[in-house]
Amino acid sequence: MTVLVTGGAGYIGGHMVLALLDAGEKAVVLDDLSTGFRSAVRPPAKLIVGDFGDMALVETILREHEIDAIAHFAAKIVVPESVADPLRYYLNNTAKSRNLLECAVRHKIKHFIFSSTAAVYGEPEVNPVSETAALAPINPYGRSKLMTEWMLQDASHAHGLDYVILRYFNVAGADPKGRLGQSTPQATHLIKIAVQAALGFRPGLDVFGADYPTRDGTCIRDYIQVTDLVAAHLMALDYLRKGGESLICNCGYGTGFSVFEVIDVVKQVSGVDFNVRISGRRAGDPASLVAGAERIKSVLGWAPKYDDLPAIAGQALDWERHLHNKSKAESVLVRNSAAR
Ligand code: UDP
Repeated sequence: MTVLVTGGAGYIGGHMVLALLDAGEKAVVLDDLSTGFRSAVRPPAKLIVGDFGDMALVETILREHEIDAIAHFAAKIVVPESVADPLRYYLNNTAKSRNLLECAVRHKIKHFIFSSTAAVYGEPEVNPVSETAALAPINPYGRSKLMTEWMLQDASHAHGLDYVILRYFNVAGADPKGRLGQSTPQATHLIKIAVQAALGFRPGLDVFGADYPTRDGTCIRDYIQVTDLVAAHLMALDYLRKGGESLICNCGYGTGFSVFEVIDVVKQVSGVDFNVRISGRRAGDPASLVAGAERIKSVLGWAPKYDDLPAIAGQALDWERHLHNKSKAESVLVRNSAAR
């Protein structure tokens, strides 16, 4: 059996493909390469470049490969961008997911693993937040994902497609074997930005708001290491294949770090005291989001292996250095071939 991984050339989807191959599974990747990279998809995984909302293409893929499960990672994921351009998010994350679901139903795909987000909780009243908390997203990104959760639940009810919805908290770090990391140059995520500042690739870091009702005024998030996160997907797949009932799980460690705390960790791990400036709040940011992570442990048997923020920051630093060295080597190659 083969797993179709949408967004499998991206950061999290790419780690999922590595984990599937490491586990001896077959994977087909559908990715439009808008933020992903061809090089992230290693053989024997097959890369098909295209749009996951293109029903004719998806139907061909489902017909031509023995696919029993879809892991749907492809999405737009930047909260402030979703505030500025909501319809793009509703098209990409909601409308196209509807098409994908219709294809899945038509082709009687058995299992569907969906990358959802803690943003569906909005500003939770209590942290850590459990899966049964009120769903009240405060930005279009969260709403675009919540609507897909609902479509998936309704389709499951009507057509018997089993699912696991995984609500990610803040994903960070890189493959501990150094094969992959966060490569998107325009990435906006805190640890990536901090690491780039530490390495001198940007002049410093802006803290988006230090007047939140938190212990030091900056936003608190739960940072989960990417390999730990994708391990949860493999366990979810195994669970569904063994007949487990459809399920929603938070994915996080249950520990929150403030923006200042993350910056301190990156400064300590890198040994660089980079510039930090406090600027205004960013649109769409909730003050605190920390995962209640009991369900994923008790139902899926998931146990984190890399729950260590300095180690996560170290992986991100190593990956950023690797990207920098690679692009330097490539520009030397281009210069040499132009000189010839
Ligand atoms: N953040 C920040 N400066 C940056 C990037 C992020 O202060 O350059 C803050 C952001 O406002 C949020 C937290 O770091 O409070 C985590 O943001 P990120 O974009 O990493 O993930 P999100 O929580 O939006 O998914």
